[in-house]
Amino acid sequence: MPREVSLKDTRNIGIMAHIDAGKTTTTERILYYTGVNHKMGETHDGASTMDWMAQEQERGITITSAATTAFWKGHRINIIDTPGHVDFTVEVERSLRVLDGAVTVLDAKAGVEPQTETVWRQATEYNVPRIVFVNKMDAIGADFIMSCNTIVDRLGAKSCPIQLPIGAESTFKGIVDIIERKAEIYTNDLGTNIEVTDVPEDLQDLTEEYRMKLLEYLADYDEDLMMQVLEGEEPSVEEIKRVLRIAVCNGDFFPVLCGSAYKNKGVQMVLDAVVDYLPSPLDIPSINGTTLDGEAEQRHASDDEPFAALAFKIAADPFVGKLSFFRVYSGKATAGSYVLNSTKNKKERFGRIVQMHANARKEISEVYAGDIAAAVGLKNTTTGDTLCDEKNPIILESMEFPEPVIELSLEPKTKADQDKMGLALAKLAEEDPTFKTYTNEETGQTIIAGVGELHLDIIVDRLRREFKVEANVGKPQVAYRETIRDTAECEGKYIRQSGGKGQYGHVWIRFEPNEGKGFEFVDAVVGGTVPREFIKPTNE
Ligand code: GDP
Repeated sequence: MPREVSLKDTRNIGIMAHIDAGKTTTTERILYYTGVNHKMGETHDGASTMDWMAQEQERGITITSAATTAFWKGHRINIIDTPGHVDFTVEVERSLRVLDGAVTVLDAKAGVEPQTETVWRQATEYNVPRIVFVNKMDAIGADFIMSCNTIVDRLGAKSCPIQLPIGAESTFKGIVDIIERKAEIYTNDLGTNIEVTDVPEDLQDLTEEYRMKLLEYLADYDEDLMMQVLEGEEPSVEEIKRVLRIAVCNGDFFPVLCGSAYKNKGVQMVLDAVVDYLPSPLDIPSINGTTLDGEAEQRHASDDEPFAALAFKIAADPFVGKLSFFRVYSGKATAGSYVLNSTKNKKERFGRIVQMHANARKEISEVYAGDIAAAVGLKNTTTGDTLCDEKNPIILESMEFPEPVIELSLEPKTKADQDKMGLALAKLAEEDPTFKTYTNEETGQTIIAGVGELHLDIIVDRLRREFKVEANVGKPQVAYRETIRDTAECEGKYIRQSGGKGQYGHVWIRFEPNEGKGFEFVDAVVGGTVPREFIKPTNE
């Protein structure tokens, strides 16, 4: 089977946001417009396609990091789902590891929010180029320019709008494309009838102002464009788009778009921007690895190099059992063939390879460089492992997982529960590298440990639902505590701090210099509550 879509036309992206900004709704609309989702799911009703685990629907948060494939204008877009809840930052990290670009969704009422800062910081660490989508332009209090300003003020990012909303709140009806100097007005509820017009008169000045600002930013990335700007010439639309792509792929410039996923406005333009500006696997640096002799080696995004892939997510699937999601960095592999899990030094057979298409799954016979797919039947593979060609073994640079910070005891209710529980916990630990389980030697109790209270709640819930294990659950205990010894090391940074007495989950605290009086607590991104003693360390 030949390649369906060229490497250059492949996009591996994530959608990242503070919880409730509209990541799920945006993803759903993307699946709708790319044609795979026949019925538009409403996250209101918990019927969304990406959130396929029962608890996610009940809790309204996205936990799994499933990858979904969609097609847009001749491009394949693989969407890697990233959760927004702070307790699952490890899930965010593992998806960031395998994606090449991201759409950051903001709520137009709030702009940048605390968790936006967390995911933004992580994306910066992993060098993930981003575009920003200011969602909820239809909601009361929506303010696009305020939201754009928070990107500059709170994230310190180089950023400029490339669109302007026409109207806001209940009058939001269309979008100005600053680069093309045109407007799109939505004339039906599904957002499928679009009237293209000139920029409305009252937005012309603002359009020109931001267009100039954009050109000034872009001039830094291209000499030709710089000359044209200096000489007051008008660069062509193609020229602006070409340089904007360079700037975005460079990872330090962030164009801002607007819309309302819920009201079906602006999502197609987000897809256009994903294709136009976010990198293909050819535009990102080659991946580093080491051979089994410990020699450094790189792999390039090419089908002609030996096969190398990274497993980034193990999921229990109700239909096929264990699914191992992986990203191919180089080469190709065929269903039914053997590969080496070089991390564990075990041979694995690619029984079947599948790709998820929102509500359908497609079996494929071959995977190529740049692809994201899932394998059925890999026995020994866990998250972070490298799968590679047996004859050309390499261990790819992997990811780091945080240690558990919280633990609780589990007492099975009956002997039957006891028997099932051991197997169930082993399975859960295999899926989730941040989840640990052990037996307390003094009491004989089974202890489970995780990265936050919600993390363990979900484990207990899954034990009950998926594995039918009933257990009495003890009180959460702090398993691990980091102490800040020297606040001077903390300047401007967030420090992870596990909870103090009665406080669980972890907290990210940021300190900044306080006019020569040492360091002062600035803000916290909270997975629990802020321990008192850390509120003002300089006053102690
Ligand atoms: P997530 O937590 O980021 O995945 O956010 P969801 O997509 O689940 O959305 C959170 C809530 O905001 C839901 O009630 C959505 O219906 C609502 N929502 C999402 N997008 C929009 C939008 O464009 N406009 C309005 N008014 N509400 C939206």
